[in-house]
This record gives sequence, structure tokens and C-alpha cells, in this order.
Amino acid sequence: MSGKFRKCMILCCKDSHVKEEMANETYEEAIAGLKKLLSEKGGLEVAAAAKIRQLTAELEGGAEKGFDPVERIRTGFEIFKKEKYEKDSELYEKLKTGQSPKFLVFACSDSRVCPSHILNFQPGEAFVVRNIANMVPPFDPSKYSGVGAAIEYAVVHLKVENILIIGHSCCGGIKGLMSIPDDGTTQSDFIEDWVKIGKAAKAKVQAECGDLDFNGKCTQLEKEAVNVSLGNLLTYQFVREAVVNKTLSLKGGHYDFVKGSFKLWSLDFSLSPSSSTLEEIGEGSKGRQIFDNYSFALLLQNHN
Ligand SMILES: [Zn+2]
Repeated sequence: MSGKFRKCMILCCKDSHVKEEMANETYEEAIAGLKKLLSEKGGLEVAAAAKIRQLTAELEGGAEKGFDPVERIRTGFEIFKKEKYEKDSELYEKLKTGQSPKFLVFACSDSRVCPSHILNFQPGEAFVVRNIANMVPPFDPSKYSGVGAAIEYAVVHLKVENILIIGHSCCGGIKGLMSIPDDGTTQSDFIEDWVKIGKAAKAKVQAECGDLDFNGKCTQLEKEAVNVSLGNLLTYQFVREAVVNKTLSLKGGHYDFVKGSFKLWSLDFSLSPSSSTLEEIGEGSKGRQIFDNYSFALLLQNHN
């Protein structure tokens, strides 16, 4: 029996006897049982009924018996609307007039690391950019305009107070970066060229973590690549100005979904570089040079 199936039983059956009985059923019997329960419980809340439909759809999908994407989307929105949109009308009324998020968040596109899920961000709290390996490229309007537009809008117009970049465990993009051969040849149209944004982090890990195996190096690289992205943020003039004016802080994070832990750190400006020094930060090596003068301060390490 899969974990998902067991969880479904726990959710749907309060009676332990019923739970035991259902635990011995096949997928088909369980789905039929849930549908029967659904038809008998005419008085069930709409959201509860939608949940049961979703669970049965997931079970059917898990058993490869025809996953229905339209049904999944329909029940998903139904649950959201009943349980959140209609229950927290005050919040959603407020959001109709605009947004003023405190965070710009960079997270990986990986389906397991949605920042709204793992950090419980509510609508209106976080302006989010997701891409392969949660990379922030250096300032380059001709090459990375999509990311640049998001940073500019968040910092200049929304005036976010924090930029948080979240790396994560078992990141496929980071594994891809670590796997690029030394001669730089690539096999993909976009992926490897994109993750090469973190090549300075890879060089650092290779130089300092030679004793680690491939997976150990990847774990280090997941965090070092975040640091390179934090440094790359300083190549955007409007980010530098906001940091110097202390209206914006830059934070790095790493979510480990194997251990269930989250680590948070920040750029440490204890060296107090003057604004004139910061103004000298440009693209490429110059930016890196300045960035290397910063250190990082651990803010939070949660292993619960
Ligand atoms: Zn990833």
C-alpha cells in the first residue's frame, strides 16, 4: 500500500475499525468505497466532497488508470475557493486593490519546493521567480531580460524589503551543473547553458571539497550557487542602491526535503563597503571581486 493511499484512509475514515477494513482493500475497492461514501454523504460540505474526489482521482492516477488533468484542476480550484478564497474574504478583498509583498523569492522550478508551500507564504506576501536551480544571472538585458524584469519590478515598483534565494536538496539543475565536463561541452539546448550561471560556485566546490563524493559536492554546490546568485544581485544597480539605503536585505536559504530542515543566512556587510565602492560593482569579474569580499552570516538552522 502506498503512503498516499494510507494517508487517504486516515483522512477519510475516523472510525479505526473502518480504517482497518479499508486498509486491506485493493485500489479498486478503495476507490469504489470512497465513491460510495461520497454518494451516501449528501450533506458533506462541497469542499470535503471535492477533496474526496481529488483523492480518488489521485489514487486512480497513481494506479495509472487515467489521470484526468481537467478534473484535477477543477477540484483543486474548488477546494481553494471554498476553503480559502471564500473563508478569508477580508484578505482577498484587500488584494483586489493591489499588492505590496515584503519578499522577492527565487526558488527552483522543482515541483517539491514551492515557496508558498514550504514557507507558508500567503497570497500577496511573496513575489516569486522560479527557474532551474533558482539562479539569479548577472545583469544582462540582452540575455536575461525575463529575470531582470522581475527583479526590477519587485525592487523598483513593489519596493520589496527582502530578496530570498532558496536552494534545495537533490536539485537536478545543480547535478547538471556539476556534471558539465571540464571542457565545457554541453548536450542540451538550454539547461546547461543556464545553470552555468553558477560555474564560479562549482569551481569553489571543486577546489575546496575534493574529498567529497559527487552527491556531497552537489549538496555543497546547492548552497554555494545561492551565494553566487546573491552576489549577482549586486550587479543590478537598483538592487545595490536599495541595499546601500538599507531598504533591502539579501538572504540565502537552503531547504532540505530529505531531512526536513531549512537553513537561512544573509550577506554580511560587516566590512561596511562605502556606497562609492558599491557603485564600482559592474558585470563579470569586477562584480565577483567585490562579492568575494563579503561573508555570509547564518541566521537560522532548523533541523526539526
Ligand atoms: Zn532544483
